[in-house]
Amino acid sequence: MQQLQEKPGVKIGLETHVQLNTKSKIFCPCQNPSVLKEEPQPNTLTCPTCLGMPGSKPSFNKHVLLLALKIALALDCHIPDSIFFSRKTYFYPDMAKNYQITQYEMPLAKGGSIRITAKGKEKEIRIRRINLEEDPSKLVHSEKCCLADYNRSGIPLAEIVTEPDFSSPEEARLYVQKLETIMEYLHAYDSSSLAVIKSDANISLSGGERVEIKNITGAKEVEQALKYEIIRQQNMLRMGKKIEMSTVSWQPELGITKLMRAKETEEDYGYIFDPDLTAINTVRYIPGVQKELPEMPDAKHERFIRSYRISDKLAESLVSEKELADLFEKAAHIDARAAASFIAGYLKKTLNWSNLKYRNAGLEDRWVLDIIGMLKNRRITDRNAEMAARKMVEEKLSPKQIVEKHGMEREDATTNTEISIERLLEKNKKAVSDYRRGEKKALHFLVGLAMKETRGKIDSLELKNLIIRAIRNKRN
Ligand SMILES: [Zn+2]
Repeated sequence: MQQLQEKPGVKIGLETHVQLNTKSKIFCPCQNPSVLKEEPQPNTLTCPTCLGMPGSKPSFNKHVLLLALKIALALDCHIPDSIFFSRKTYFYPDMAKNYQITQYEMPLAKGGSIRITAKGKEKEIRIRRINLEEDPSKLVHSEKCCLADYNRSGIPLAEIVTEPDFSSPEEARLYVQKLETIMEYLHAYDSSSLAVIKSDANISLSGGERVEIKNITGAKEVEQALKYEIIRQQNMLRMGKKIEMSTVSWQPELGITKLMRAKETEEDYGYIFDPDLTAINTVRYIPGVQKELPEMPDAKHERFIRSYRISDKLAESLVSEKELADLFEKAAHIDARAAASFIAGYLKKTLNWSNLKYRNAGLEDRWVLDIIGMLKNRRITDRNAEMAARKMVEEKLSPKQIVEKHGMEREDATTNTEISIERLLEKNKKAVSDYRRGEKKALHFLVGLAMKETRGKIDSLELKNLIIRAIRNKRN
């Protein structure tokens, strides 16, 4: 019974595969299908090398190396002077040559870290290693047979392996989100293309062995899969069952994990050095790559707080999408605080709601600058700025057109004829007496009604003052 009360300690590590943004594949000149916007016909982007034909020889794409070095430097990793590739031997129809070219003995990079903020606290997630490897082909299972699409075979992958530093599914999600942001800053990954970021998660609870969850796409799914696995393992431990080392697969449509196999160890794969590929000297490329590194999200975050005196939270939200951070810097001269709260608040909320990124929302920078100008000159209220952001995304019109079309221009309470505060108080006597008894909520309620009646055209603060004054006058 003692065990029942104890919440078992959770340890999570991630191995995340990023399909890299290069024109061609990693070991042949075929086009890299993951950078396209639409799925190509199966098996149209292939050659003897990525099909794994006998006698074909791989040759390493230098652009993959340069991009991978950029990632390693951005994550503060140690890069060995020389790296090489190994063959990971396995038998499965997704890899016709029966081995995958990957790295084992000498990876691209070791060490390094990524900083996340979980529950208001900063935490450093240590990177163990980064490997470069080729993606295998895609197997399409149908009732009668299994088809293989070799377009995917040879897509360059960066595999980023962490130490088991996560203590909750939420931290794992935040890490994958941060990693995605970093990759987009480096142009190593483009979320608007077909490229995907997939993770394998290792999780163990104290009292049980490590379970690996395979192939989870995206950050939110990582969190869900881990939450499910924690509950499943906790239940097993409660029932006195043993958790053995195993590999499970995540079934996103069912929201459960399914046992695949008892876990094999890395040694079971029998790695050997790939004799087709020579060792690569990294030293001569590093200074050039270093020069190309952009300002990374953490540095930008600190600079935004320092230079524009905006809150930590707003700065964090702005830097999470590079295009929003750039937009903010364009708008900050108008009014930095108004720009930060409009872009990180209303605009981002609207974009998230429509599942859009700023760069593919079809908005013009000028429109956002205009609306921030209107906020600064008090031509629009906060509430209607939020409405206008929504309309801008929906209707693809400039703020001027939207304000005109929907009658959103701010008005002075004194000149507005739509509202009679007297009538409003008359109709809501209970709220008035509640407010008199000191209930602040009653005042919010009255202000809300007044805002609705004036369709957001009058500042809430102005309405609040009018209502307070009217209630006092009534008493006299
Ligand atoms: Zn090819």
